[in-house]
Amino acid sequence: MMNHPNTALNMEELHWQLGLLQNLDVGLIVLDADYRVHLWNSFMANHSGIRDAAAQGKRLDELFKGFPARWFQRKLESVFLLRSQAFITWEERPYLFKFKPYHPITGLAEFMYQNVTLIPLTSPSGTVTHVGIMVYDMTSAAMSQKGLHQANEALARLSRTDRLSGLANRGHWESCLEQEFERFIRTQRPSSLVMMDVDHFKRINDTYGHQAGDEVIKALSAMLMSHARTTDLPGRYGGEEFGVLLVDTTSQNALNFAERLRKAVEAMIVRHNGNTIQFTVSIGVEETRNEHQSHEGWMRATDSALYHSKESGRNRTTLAEDLE
Ligand code: GH3
Ligand code: MG
Ligand code: MG
Repeated sequence: MMNHPNTALNMEELHWQLGLLQNLDVGLIVLDADYRVHLWNSFMANHSGIRDAAAQGKRLDELFKGFPARWFQRKLESVFLLRSQAFITWEERPYLFKFKPYHPITGLAEFMYQNVTLIPLTSPSGTVTHVGIMVYDMTSAAMSQKGLHQANEALARLSRTDRLSGLANRGHWESCLEQEFERFIRTQRPSSLVMMDVDHFKRINDTYGHQAGDEVIKALSAMLMSHARTTDLPGRYGGEEFGVLLVDTTSQNALNFAERLRKAVEAMIVRHNGNTIQFTVSIGVEETRNEHQSHEGWMRATDSALYHSKESGRNRTTLAEDLE
């Protein structure tokens, strides 16, 4: 630059460049090897409320309360040492400088999300004497990504849930059974399956109407949820057919659970349109066993036990292992 024939034009160009840098919609800071501020553009001044003159010669942790000084120093050291750029994304750390959001587009963001780039600045001799910091406002990108993520979560939840009962639907419940069976094959730690079918449900529909039948399904689902522990998974696998996966539970403990449930259902009263409806359930219980070979085999064995409960008078629980 010094050798350029037209020094006046060069000065003018430098002036323009500084003007452009000042008005850039990106934060610009230059730090020296002692981590002290050498350049502070208007983006930084406007958002921090710290004027250029006040920032000059200060360290960032002197300017910002709660600044992650040690963490940031390690980042800077690697830039000085390796002479390579470093990046901090908003996903990794939502912000480096706590600024109010610039565009309060959604009103959702409490602060400005930032991407930060650290650039080694070399002197004419080739050594890194300063580091340039660029701060990008990522608030709108972060907000739309978060919104999308939340919408996806809600959709995924819906696709796993049965609408009437609020329990896991058949597809989701069965895929959990499949995973659980595979886990058992690896670990040989038993889990148990409880399957139940409402007794004479057609009569409930015929006597009180389909809506009353729906109320019974809802009441029974609520009962299942209140009896299940957080690791248990109740699901609706058919119209008035329900299952509960009891993780890490032997068939004997599952039998106790099933009997408590059966008696609670027997004692329950569902009120609908002035009618008091009482009903019972028949239940089958079976533990994971290698002979089942798959979760389908496990379900078939449990279903046979349920069928046996129906055949032998309903409102009872059968353990599959007692059938042989
Ligand atoms: P069993 O004791 O042998 O189980 O007799 P059941 O009358 O309950 O016979 P089954 O289990 O075969 O019949 C289930 C009936 O449940 C058939 C169907 O009309 C009814 N159903 C299935 N899904 C729903 C639902 O979502 N709501 C209502 N109200 N009824 C349903
Ligand atoms: Mg049925
Ligand atoms: Mg039934």
